[in-house]
Amino acid sequence: MSDQAFVTLATNDLYGKGALVLGTSLRNHRTTRQLVVLVSPQVSNNMRAVLGKIFDEVILVNVLDSKDSAHLAMIKRPELGVTFTKLHCWALTHYSKCIFMDADTLVLCNIDELFEREELSAAPDPGWPDCFNTGVFVYRPSIETYNELLQFSTEKGSFDGGDQGLLNSFFSNWATADINKHLPFIYNLSSVAIYSYLPAFKQYGADAKVVHFLGNTKPWNYSYNPKTRCVTGDSHDYSLVTHPEFLNMWWDIFTTSVSPLLPVHGISNEQSSSGTQEPSCLAYALAFSCGLSFCRKEEKLSEAVSQLSFTPPPPAVSSEERRKKWEQGQADYMGEDSFQNIQKKLDAYLN
Ligand code: UDP
Ligand code: MN
Repeated sequence: MSDQAFVTLATNDLYGKGALVLGTSLRNHRTTRQLVVLVSPQVSNNMRAVLGKIFDEVILVNVLDSKDSAHLAMIKRPELGVTFTKLHCWALTHYSKCIFMDADTLVLCNIDELFEREELSAAPDPGWPDCFNTGVFVYRPSIETYNELLQFSTEKGSFDGGDQGLLNSFFSNWATADINKHLPFIYNLSSVAIYSYLPAFKQYGADAKVVHFLGNTKPWNYSYNPKTRCVTGDSHDYSLVTHPEFLNMWWDIFTTSVSPLLPVHGISNEQSSSGTQEPSCLAYALAFSCGLSFCRKEEKLSEAVSQLSFTPPPPAVSSEERRKKWEQGQADYMGEDSFQNIQKKLDAYLN
């Protein structure tokens, strides 16, 4: 199994934290494959040293940037030009087959069976399911493919400015050619899917194998109180409401296994993610307000998911009709179910 590897990427210390949690989760679930992290020169020496404790290989690569601000503006993620750096993963030819995983993913069980799949296998993107999401994919390292990809990137660019647009154009028959290359969605479950199709999440969420914290706000952008095991953050962030159990799992691994490895100083941390906020635990309060339940480490995920239900709000605020809509995943986020209203309820509850 030494010629197969899980590969991830970090171009700065924050994504390095994500890589550390991902690597730890793969080890916790006893992968038999090698763990590789690609790092750019911006990653600090301290972070590289810590990555070296979890990963078998820490490989320095130069940053490839699409510099395609026009397309990146369309997905409101100007920083994602550097995801072209992912292309270096095809240069790891001392492996015969690899699984690339974004640094903002977390595995919930052993997923070594993915090595039975062929290039290019990936799960559908929740935003446009005829595209694959590049947060998790199976590929074969090859200098030929690597060079073709680099050439393709300079000649054709990417329709979204990031690696996902590029790779979908390159492997353009993914949607139709071979169903075996469609990974089940549970190998790349994102929060977007949870809140856009809640009943499906209630039905299938317990089978999730990989969680992907896709989008602007990453787990390390939140604060966490290890004593109460509460994640806190922007109250307008649906992720916090819709999948607090996954955020808690990420932070649980970070505080128990990763944090002790980090030096007190020397890991750059542009955004606070220490865990000392007291005790107004918005996450728990929101959960209470919406009838969501939390997953603690010792609870089985399936139990948490089966308990995940939207209880009817008090009659003064709501109606049977509104409850139905909640249950169908059609909360009126902009109107009655807006965060402003939830916040009001919260305040009343906290007082
Ligand atoms: N990445 C990185 N530095 C960055 C942005 C992205 O190292 O500044 C890497 C990292 O592995 C990350 C992946 O590229 O997980 C894709 O970016 P991201 O996960 O932010 O995109 P999303 O999944 O939210 O579309
Ligand atoms: Mn990602």
